[in-house]
Amino acid sequence: MTAALRDDLVFVYRELARLGLNQASTGNVSARDGAGMLITPSGCDAETVSAGGMVAMALDGASQSPNKPSSEWHMHAAIYSSDPRAQAIVHTHSDACTALACLGEDLPAFHYMIAAFGGDEVRCAPYATFGTAELAPLAVAAIAGRSACLLANHGVIVHAGSPRLALRQMVLLETLARQFLLARSAGVPRILNAAEMEGAHRRFQTYGQP
Ligand code: 13P
Ligand code: ZN
Repeated sequence: MTAALRDDLVFVYRELARLGLNQASTGNVSARDGAGMLITPSGCDAETVSAGGMVAMALDGASQSPNKPSSEWHMHAAIYSSDPRAQAIVHTHSDACTALACLGEDLPAFHYMIAAFGGDEVRCAPYATFGTAELAPLAVAAIAGRSACLLANHGVIVHAGSPRLALRQMVLLETLARQFLLARSAGVPRILNAAEMEGAHRRFQTYGQP
C-alpha cells in the first residue's frame, strides 16, 4: 500500500512538471499514510524525485527518513489534522493561480465549476513566509470547508481523496484561474449569485457515474 502510494506521488510530482504547473523544485506533494504522511523531500525536482526518496513522517514532524521533508510539511500536516477528507495534497506555483494570489484576491464564482472546490469561492490566505509554521494555520483557515485555497504572493494548495485526484483538481483549478484572468482582461465577469451556486452544488451531488 505504502509502495503504491510512493509510486503515485512520484507520478503526480512528475506530471506537475510535465504540465508546466511546477518548475524546478517549486511545489510539493504528499499523501496521508496511516497516522502520518509521505511527502516529497525538500528541493527535489522532476528529475531527482524517487519512490525511495519520499519522506515518511508523523504529523508532528518526527521522522526517521534520511531525507529532509518538504519545507511546507507544517502546512500539509496541518491540513491533514484539520480535515479527515484530505487524503492527498498538491501544492504548486502554477501561473494563473499564482498571478491571482499575487493580487491577494479570492477566485470568485465567475464559473459554476468553482463549486467543485466545495464553496462559493476559492479563498486566498494572507501572506506568510514559505516553509514556516506561521503559514500553516493561515492555509487551514482559508481552505476550511473547501478543498483548495490560494496562498498570497506564493501559489495554491489543493487536497483530495488520492494523489491522482489532487492532481486532477489542481489542473481544473489552474484552468479556472486562467479563464477568470482571461475573462477579466476582456471585461467584467458576472459573478454567480448564491442561488445559482446552490444549484451548482446540488447538481454536483449527482454528477458523473454513481
Ligand atoms: P520544497 O522544495 O521544500 O518542497 O519547497 C518548495 C515550495 O514550493 C515552498 O513553498
Ligand atoms: Zn511553494
